[in-house]
Amino acid sequence: MSEGCVLVLNCGSSSVKLALVDPATGERRLTGLAERVGSRDAVAHVRRGDREETSTPGDTTARGALAHLMGSLTDEERDTLVGVGHRVVHGGNRFSASVVVDDATLDDLYALVDLAPLHMPANLLGIETARVALPELAQVAVFDTAFHQTMPPVAYRYAVPQEWYDEHHVRRYGFHGTSHRFVSARAAEVLGRPAAELRLVVLHLGNGCSAAAVRGGESVDTTMGLTPLEGLVMGTRSGDVDPGLLGYVAERLDLDVAGVVDALNTRSGLLGLSGLSNDMRTVCDAAVAGSAPARLAVDVFCYRAAKAVGSLAVALGGLDAVVLTGGIGEHSTEVRRGIMSHLGVLGIGEDADANADHGRHTGGRVSRPGDRVAIVVPTDEELLIARDTVQLAGEVAR
Ligand code: ADP
Repeated sequence: MSEGCVLVLNCGSSSVKLALVDPATGERRLTGLAERVGSRDAVAHVRRGDREETSTPGDTTARGALAHLMGSLTDEERDTLVGVGHRVVHGGNRFSASVVVDDATLDDLYALVDLAPLHMPANLLGIETARVALPELAQVAVFDTAFHQTMPPVAYRYAVPQEWYDEHHVRRYGFHGTSHRFVSARAAEVLGRPAAELRLVVLHLGNGCSAAAVRGGESVDTTMGLTPLEGLVMGTRSGDVDPGLLGYVAERLDLDVAGVVDALNTRSGLLGLSGLSNDMRTVCDAAVAGSAPARLAVDVFCYRAAKAVGSLAVALGGLDAVVLTGGIGEHSTEVRRGIMSHLGVLGIGEDADANADHGRHTGGRVSRPGDRVAIVVPTDEELLIARDTVQLAGEVAR
């Protein structure tokens, strides 16, 4: 029997997502999405079960679109709410766990805007709007960075001038922490072993991609850094490049640094290499149909993900399992095959049948029986946000 639902909000720069989540079962009573927010053709979709309604917000700003989505909740749905959980991209050094938002926390969050100027204003708008609309409920912030706050200095420091760190907080933070935390805990359950004993490399492969080294349930290293641009090849992001490339390209193309960074964020990755798409399905289909650039894009993507597994196995001091998640990790047989083709050195080889079946009949396992384990574990960031929210809202109420 449900003890109430959590409204989970994910306010981004051009889209707003909302879900009414039952934290006990993971069921979504309702999901809402407003797209192209901030432009004249903003549109909102609200889904309950199989029924989807599409509408146009009167006010197409992010604030208006969020109010529009929240206004679609029935009185009955509002009455089930026990708290509001917010996905917040950056918690800096300040937040190593989820937190109930009060006035002081909000000040701390505004102080972090410089670390993620594209995302934090939208996240904060979501919190401010929900506080006004649902003042009786606890508002809980769940940070993408928090799980990685356990990284040791040897993993999070860049070899740059000390004052950059002291005065400007230049260090590696890591992102996708909610997914890495959810998936690593779930992997321990699936493997039937205590999380405290396990050394896992989690590959979160979606539009954004990152890998994390999780030892004893804690993140000890990850591939994303000060910003989500570092590390693996992604849909439109380059991942690691030589920092010397910035000056070289800026001069050649007569761009400023911001222009080069924008190209690395929005025109690189799978899109840049394939010249076709940032979507792995499209790129894989083109590769199979014979496109050489698309083939190279898939190959570079897999090679770089496999290299990250190797380096994170070093960070862990050993490896018990590789865990694959995110839209690509969960659904792409070809990408998993490509990654595992490089992992023989770590004792991991593909079980072709299990991999073609996405591990559905092997408890998630896609590696050969007897090999070191590679498993598919679906992520559910909204569910973890809902669980944190219920827990913290309960503590406030006591
Ligand atoms: P986000 O990071 O925005 O949450 P997802 O985790 O849903 O995104 O991942 C999106 C990526 O997953 C896209 O590149 C998409 O092509 C890829 N993907 C989803 N299903 C498949 C599939 N069956 N085969 C290959 N790639 C897939």
